[in-house]
Amino acid sequence: MRPEPVEGRELLAHHTTLRVGGPARRMITVATEPELVETVRNLDARGEPLLILGGGSNLLVGDSGFDGTVIKIATRGIDEDTAACSGAVITVAAGEPWDPLVGDAIARGWSGFETMSGIPGLVGATPIQNVGAYGAEVSQLISMVRTVDRATGHLKTFFPVECGFGYRTSRFKSDPGRFVVLSVTFQLPLGSMSQPIRYPELARVLGIEVGQRAPAAEVRQAVLGLRTAKGMVLTEDDHDTWSAGSFFTNPIMSLAQADTLPAAAPRFHHSDGMIKTSAAWLIERAGFGKGYGNGAARLSSKHTLALTNRGWATAADLLTLAREIQAGVAEKFGIELVPEPVLVGCEL
Ligand SMILES: Cc1cc2nc3c(=O)[nH]c(=O)nc-3n(C[C@H](O)[C@H](O)[C@H](O)COP(=O)(O)OP(=O)(O)OC[C@H]3O[C@@H](n4cnc5c(N)ncnc54)[C@H](O)[C@@H]3O)c2cc1C
Repeated sequence: MRPEPVEGRELLAHHTTLRVGGPARRMITVATEPELVETVRNLDARGEPLLILGGGSNLLVGDSGFDGTVIKIATRGIDEDTAACSGAVITVAAGEPWDPLVGDAIARGWSGFETMSGIPGLVGATPIQNVGAYGAEVSQLISMVRTVDRATGHLKTFFPVECGFGYRTSRFKSDPGRFVVLSVTFQLPLGSMSQPIRYPELARVLGIEVGQRAPAAEVRQAVLGLRTAKGMVLTEDDHDTWSAGSFFTNPIMSLAQADTLPAAAPRFHHSDGMIKTSAAWLIERAGFGKGYGNGAARLSSKHTLALTNRGWATAADLLTLAREIQAGVAEKFGIELVPEPVLVGCEL
């Protein structure tokens, strides 16, 4: 059953890209940083449950919603400090939308963001799961993250070594809800060329070798083209994009465990001698092809890693599909897939 709207309560389904999620007890939109800090401190002083909401593109909210206050981040502003030796040092408010920032950076001759074109959501969420795509991660460009520490109510600035960045994770994600990101400072090399391209599929489309550079504007267009073909650019009338992007992270395992996978399974070197394989490959080979499912929640018809809402799905429908896929992959390959989105008021 889809959650019913409750008088005076905002349905979170209207604020998430999966378009599911029941009502919030209260939703407040904050447009300035002092207001954001003050609101967080006041709610915490009252012991009120709090959910920080950006673009809702990495959230699966349960059908019973969130029994507390949702703060919708709408702070804006970009401070720029450009010098030939340090490059562009930009401090960006948490509420700035990510992809327009990427486009703007390229237009201004700031390099580094180009392969992360087309990712939905707001800047404040990018350090949470160390957003990345096509061989780059935001952690490579972040020089500072300013936060409110909800345990103390004090402002706290993190430098990259303190952020615990890893593949789709950070200390902000592993200590959920504790830090509210106010702004992120990025340091970007100056120039119209991209950083070296690390992703073979992208290099192929650009007609270059892995490790070479290309004009950043061309890289952006190539990435947007690849992402669109995979349903990974939000499009209102395309249900393949009613998702949270990749629903599962790519599994990381020891060499010994990787040896138990079929010879054809993709293997990429990760840090510390670990091996990363492709969750999409495992899902497909476990029998869940593109478009799998016959209800309101199905795999994208363009990419097996995206669980999608065909228009009338509930969170329960998506969770049922996610569990079926998890169980199928575990049975076939002995690998437990881990969800990438943050689950609120529900669990797998
Ligand atoms: C079509 C599609 C494609 C995607 N492709 C990619 C991709 O290529 N790579 C990738 O890494 N991700 C991808 N994603 C996932 C998602 O877009 C990113 O994780 C994005 O950074 C989430 O931003 P958001 O503002 O929507 O965060 P939300 O979904 O609103 O929030 C996500 C989490 O971060 C917390 N949060 C948000 N803002 C703050 C803040 N200011 N302070 C503290 N906590 C905060 C929330 O409480 C929640 O726990 C994709 C999603 C979709 C729908």
